[in-house]
Amino acid sequence: MAIISREQIVEGLVDILGKDQVVTDEQVLKESSIDRYRKYEQVCEVYTQPIPAAVVYVRSAEEVSEVLKFANDNEINIVPRTGHSAIEGGLETALKDSVVIDGSTMNKVIKVDEYNMQVTCQCGVPLQELDDMLRERGLTTGHSPQSKPLAQMGGLVATRSIGQFSTLYGGIEDMIVGLEAVFPNGKICRIKNVPRRAAGPDIRHIICGNEGALCFITEVTLKLFKWQPENNRYIGYKLDDEHMKLGFDCLREVMVAGYKPSFARLYDAADAQQHFSSWLEEGKAILIWMAEGPANITPAIEEGIKDLMSKHPELEEVDPKLIEKWYGGLNWGPEQIAEEKEEIKATQNIGITTEVSGNWDNIYEIYKTACDRIMEEVPDMTLMGGHSSHSYINGTNMYFVYYYNIVDCAPEEEINKYHDRINQIICEQVIKYGGSIVHHHGLGKARARYVTEEYGSSYYMLKTLKQAFDPNGVMNMGTLIPLRK
Ligand SMILES: Cc1cc2nc3c(=O)[nH]c(=O)nc-3n(C[C@H](O)[C@H](O)[C@H](O)COP(=O)(O)OP(=O)(O)OC[C@H]3O[C@@H](n4cnc5c(N)ncnc54)[C@H](O)[C@@H]3O)c2cc1C
Repeated sequence: MAIISREQIVEGLVDILGKDQVVTDEQVLKESSIDRYRKYEQVCEVYTQPIPAAVVYVRSAEEVSEVLKFANDNEINIVPRTGHSAIEGGLETALKDSVVIDGSTMNKVIKVDEYNMQVTCQCGVPLQELDDMLRERGLTTGHSPQSKPLAQMGGLVATRSIGQFSTLYGGIEDMIVGLEAVFPNGKICRIKNVPRRAAGPDIRHIICGNEGALCFITEVTLKLFKWQPENNRYIGYKLDDEHMKLGFDCLREVMVAGYKPSFARLYDAADAQQHFSSWLEEGKAILIWMAEGPANITPAIEEGIKDLMSKHPELEEVDPKLIEKWYGGLNWGPEQIAEEKEEIKATQNIGITTEVSGNWDNIYEIYKTACDRIMEEVPDMTLMGGHSSHSYINGTNMYFVYYYNIVDCAPEEEINKYHDRINQIICEQVIKYGGSIVHHHGLGKARARYVTEEYGSSYYMLKTLKQAFDPNGVMNMGTLIPLRK
């Protein structure tokens, strides 16, 4: 906790940045104390976390460096932020008199290098704006998380985010070329842009996924790809919900056969009804693929997948136009967030997600046993289901989707009564069967409590990184590594 007073913190920040860049408006501070992990508290406007001393808007790596040095010297907890779309408590200001460093004002695209197929931008560049601009030039980053209209480059890298076309392009870790980041002692580090190097460990991965708990990311260089949507092919099959195990096997068959669709999904019946109820019967699960790329490749992928699936009489092909139409409306921006808020207020029914991963030989058990336990053990559930949306040669993810009514419960009690209980069951089942408790949202503060079980003996390495880069414990405390009680 800070060794100077709240007033001295604000004065010090104003000395470094000037008044205009230091915000102390009470409402802004309250809204900056949490993220969507405490979605119900957000909706009810009840703030249970310590309110930060200030939110500061930075314009350069040098300014970030000055603020971090000040925080490091005075033991002030810093919470880095860009798009504010976090959903695992990564933005919670867990300690008294924290300071939020907001990089959304660092929003310049520095260079589009079409010859070397890479783009360099500051941490506050919104992904939607970047990709829209690139698509006009026939290019894309290939990164398309559902939060594309909200998220910005710093947060996308800090959380090791992943997009809907990951089966072809990979997660953000596969797209990063080089980076610039500032450490709590003020040191600005730049990792140069080269296609590959073997000069020791890949230090980009100390920055990527650090969730603001090691350093502040100021600049990112990503790979570029050709954008050629006219060649897209869509493939879909419905199957009975009781054949979910077969559904996972179908995803596996396509990966193991060596096809590279950009999109590969399996929805169970409960989750499918949220998306396809206008034409999909209740009780039906759905398998979906999309092939992207050059004109002579996508028909071959389509044909290959159809050939593999033709061996399964349990599957029934669906009109690809229905899949194409659905795929166009997946992303969430401020409008959807505002609508959801009103719906929760009106119904007291809330929807949350938890994403995990597993190998092909344990993902079904993880999915089935977690769903069964939650329905048995947690009260007031109205929907429990999920989908797999990112597949690999050796396994896939599971994105649990659940809704419950909030019954006889104050806003500040909701998270203990429902959300954390559900998360706990999911994490227990994942650890029992040998998967990972976090596929792409980050540990945040929500799942930091399970970090030692998740890491096992390699927790030594994570803890040592934290101690080495943040010896005074000022970077997003409680994220990645839980606070000591
Ligand atoms: C509707 C919705 C859909 C989503 N869909 C996806 C999805 O498909 N795939 C996916 O991966 N995620 C998804 N997310 C989660 C979230 O959008 C991602 O984690 C995203 O990468 C966060 O980016 P941001 O700019 O909003 O970061 P923020 O919310 O501002 O911050 C996220 C985390 O990164 C840290 N951070 C932010 N900026 C920096 C920086 N400059 N330096 C160091 N640390 C920093 C923060 O401290 C925090 O821990 C979704 C979220 C929502 C609300």
